[in-house]
Amino acid sequence: MDVAVRIVKRRARELYIKSRIPGVDYAVNQYAGCQFGCRYCYAKFLCRWKDYGPWGSWVEVKENAPELARKHVKGTVVMSTVSDPYQPLEAEMKHTRRVLRFMDKRNRLSILTKSPLVTRDADILREFRDAEVGLTLNTFSGKEKRLFEPLTPIQRARVNALKELHEAGLRTYAFISPIIPGITDVEAVVEETKGLVERYFFEVLNLRASGREFQRILRENYSESYEILTDEEKFGRFIEGLKEEIKKMGIITEGIEVHRKGWDFIPL
Ligand code: SF4
Repeated sequence: MDVAVRIVKRRARELYIKSRIPGVDYAVNQYAGCQFGCRYCYAKFLCRWKDYGPWGSWVEVKENAPELARKHVKGTVVMSTVSDPYQPLEAEMKHTRRVLRFMDKRNRLSILTKSPLVTRDADILREFRDAEVGLTLNTFSGKEKRLFEPLTPIQRARVNALKELHEAGLRTYAFISPIIPGITDVEAVVEETKGLVERYFFEVLNLRASGREFQRILRENYSESYEILTDEEKFGRFIEGLKEEIKKMGIITEGIEVHRKGWDFIPL
C-alpha cells in the first residue's frame, strides 16, 4: 500500500551523532521520520519537535549525508535510530546506499531494518571490515499487524532477507521487538531464524515511549497484555517466564531490554 509522504530536504552539520544507547557509540540517521509509521514507534517521541505532520506522513532527508559519511570513527555505529534506512522511498532514492558507499569501511557498522530491501546492498555491506545486519521480528500478523504496523513488510519477507544476507556471507542478528505479552511469539521467531543469525536481541515494548494513542489501542484491544505491562507484579512474573524461555533456547544473546526504571536491561 503506497501512502503519500512529504519529503523535507535539509543539510546537516554532522552525520555521526554520539549515542546514549548502551553499546552504541554513534547513531547515523540519513533519514529522520519513517514511512512505515508503526503506531508504537519510539522515534516519533524523539522527533516530536519536528512539526511536519503526523508520524509516518513525512521524511526528512539529510541531503549531504553521503559526504559526511566519509569520516572514520572509533566504536560501534548504528544505522538508524529515528527512521528505517530501508523504508519504501529508499528503493528509488538510494540515499542509504550512497551513504554506505561513501562510509569509511573501517567503521564498525550495525544496521537495523524491517525491510528486505536491505538485501540490495549486500555487495557494499560485504566491503566493511566489521558489519552486521539485523531484521526486526515480532510475529505480528492479522489483527495486530493491522493495528500496530500495517505498512511494514510481513515477517516471512524479513526472515527470507536474513537468509539471503546470511548466504551472502554477512553477519546477521534478529531483533525481537517489541515483545508484547500474549502477542509476540518469541519462541516462534527463534525457531524460524535458527541458523540464519549469529545472535539475538530482545526488547519488551516500551509502553511509555509508545505514546498515548498506542496505549489506548492496546488497552482497548488487548486488555490482558496491557494489564501485564502496567502491573508491576504481573510484569515481574512475565519477565521471569521470558527469561527462562530464552535460557532454554541455547542461543547467543546479551539479554532483554525491559525499559523499567532501575532494571532497564536484564543480562542473560
Ligand atoms: S520501522 Fe522502525 S523507525 Fe519506522 S516507524 Fe516502524 S519502528 Fe519506527
